[in-house]
Amino acid sequence: MPNPATLPAPGAPQTDAPADASVEARMDAAAEALRRVYGYHAFRPAQEPVLRHLFAGFDALAVMPTGGGKSVLYQIPALVLEGTVIVVSPLIALMQDQVEALKQLGVRAALLNSTLTAREQREVEKRFESGALDLLYVAPERLLTDGFMDRLARAHVALFAIDEAHCISQWGHDFRPEYRDLGRVRRMLPDVPCLAVTATADGPTQREILKGLGMHEDDLFVSGFDRPNIRYRVEIAGTEARAQLAAFLRDHEGEAGIVYCMTRAKVDRTAAWLAEHGTVALPYHAGLPASEREANQSRFLREEGVVMVATIAFGMGIDKPNVRFVAHLDVPKSPEAYYQETGRAGRDGLPAEAWMLYSLAGVVQQRKLMDMGGGDGAHVWAQRHKLDAVVGYCETADCRRRVLLNYFGETGYAAADGGERCGNCDTCLTPVETWDATVAAQKAMSAVKRTGERFGAAHVIAVLRGDDTDKVKRFGHDRLPTFGVGEDLDLNAWRSVVRQLIANGYLAIEVDGYGSLRLTPRAVPVLRGQETVWLRKDPTPPTRERKKRRPAGETVAITDAGERVFERLRALRFRLAKSQGVPPYVIFSDRTLREMAEAVPDSLDAMRAVSGVGEAKLARYGEAFLEALGEE
Ligand code: ADP
Ligand code: ZN
Repeated sequence: MPNPATLPAPGAPQTDAPADASVEARMDAAAEALRRVYGYHAFRPAQEPVLRHLFAGFDALAVMPTGGGKSVLYQIPALVLEGTVIVVSPLIALMQDQVEALKQLGVRAALLNSTLTAREQREVEKRFESGALDLLYVAPERLLTDGFMDRLARAHVALFAIDEAHCISQWGHDFRPEYRDLGRVRRMLPDVPCLAVTATADGPTQREILKGLGMHEDDLFVSGFDRPNIRYRVEIAGTEARAQLAAFLRDHEGEAGIVYCMTRAKVDRTAAWLAEHGTVALPYHAGLPASEREANQSRFLREEGVVMVATIAFGMGIDKPNVRFVAHLDVPKSPEAYYQETGRAGRDGLPAEAWMLYSLAGVVQQRKLMDMGGGDGAHVWAQRHKLDAVVGYCETADCRRRVLLNYFGETGYAAADGGERCGNCDTCLTPVETWDATVAAQKAMSAVKRTGERFGAAHVIAVLRGDDTDKVKRFGHDRLPTFGVGEDLDLNAWRSVVRQLIANGYLAIEVDGYGSLRLTPRAVPVLRGQETVWLRKDPTPPTRERKKRRPAGETVAITDAGERVFERLRALRFRLAKSQGVPPYVIFSDRTLREMAEAVPDSLDAMRAVSGVGEAKLARYGEAFLEALGEE
């Protein structure tokens, strides 16, 4: 049955006579579809101009952060325009998830990729040709076959959408060679508007995508990269890193999250340790058999509250919206990698946490890997520069969000209140104190110098603190004038001093694979007493009360009674999902459940007002959720 709200597709734009009236009619139909099908009250500010542009018949490249609502940009045209929207997506798991979610919404969607049998494939193709599909998701290699290209030429295509569009750029080719040929499909459908979306494209990449798809400057829509609902925190790793992780996880009991480790061995150890201590934790890394990896990933998606302990091999294409935290037990190699990995938290806009355990040993470990990797000078230099930026981020007393966004070129960050601090990172929440560390810095620098600039932080600190270690004795460092001059500060304080001297460029890590420290030219004025050094006082690890956090961001207020109701709704959602073999979040998002728990609607009509309750889901699940709300 054709959609009643369907309007003719826009066709090629008439540059001299923009059809304003028809664009407005389409926008009205779009807002109506958003309400009726998704149960959402309004488009987000970044979505509206893109849709308007598409409805006027133009192409668009939308660069939006994760969770920004990119999929709505091509799903809504599928409901408003005549014909089928073709979505090219490289990620199979993501396609399956979206098609499942669309079916739940009552939208006619299907996919074509290598997971289908020949018969299933023919079935989908038949539905496509007869115009019975609103959306068709296609893997790039499938799209480019002659058979499919012929079908495409004959069919009525409303919009050609390209997900993960950064794959079109030079660096993206490594990852998806087929994306290079999408320009061909474009040229075959000259009258069909094209929408490319991505969360990761810097200026040069954006220009490459525009060029590759024959788009214009005016077709580019970039919204900020900020993820205000993610709380950024860095904790200095002490001797009990596991206890620190356990304390962090206590704040996230029953919630889904990812714990990243640098090595496979550490993944296995950490997952086993967490499992022994009662957390539902599963390992994921490239060394596990494919079947085990798939099983663990599937449990992470389909069950509630599973913690995935993984190397960075995990995460690409994971579209789970209610990942509540991402923890890094090791220092990441670049701010880009860190932002992408932490960006997997809180896609649903609800409060989420990005937490990192940071140590100098972790930095040295990354540096060793880089230095071992070799490669040409410029490449190695760029890698070191990125790692330095990570260290700067970890050591900052400034707002962490601001440091990250500045790194990505978003200068002039302004928080929601117009201020310079976000109020949702550890340095904003607990302002950092500083101290005059000039004398301590001089002591540390002279210990580095007098030991010959050939030792790492641990040995330098042992000399400063007057520790009789074997190494100290072996090298006769107990006879140095600096031996024991630093007894006034404890081990952690010295570690903090050394780390910050590195972060601020007074000391550098030598390229010898051992993490040896040397002085930089910046150290000279400090040693001569011409420069004062201010360092941050590292906060003592926060004491943790067992209370639920309610951080800023797009928070939905919820009371304790509401919390109990939420748990009940979550249990119902899990049962419904399990009986259909789908992930719980395709039934209702956490956000929708939270709003329901707070508003406690007492009729189907009242339930309609809850964001995320569209007509199809109201009809299907409304009664069950009303009943669960009524229990007490
Ligand atoms: P992206 O693909 O950009 O990462 P999604 O399209 O998955 O983001 O959207 C993230 C979440 O926000 C989804 O749960 C989606 O349903 C929801 N969403 C999108 N647009 C709106 C809107 N206008 N109002 C409310 N929720 C929205
Ligand atoms: Zn901040």
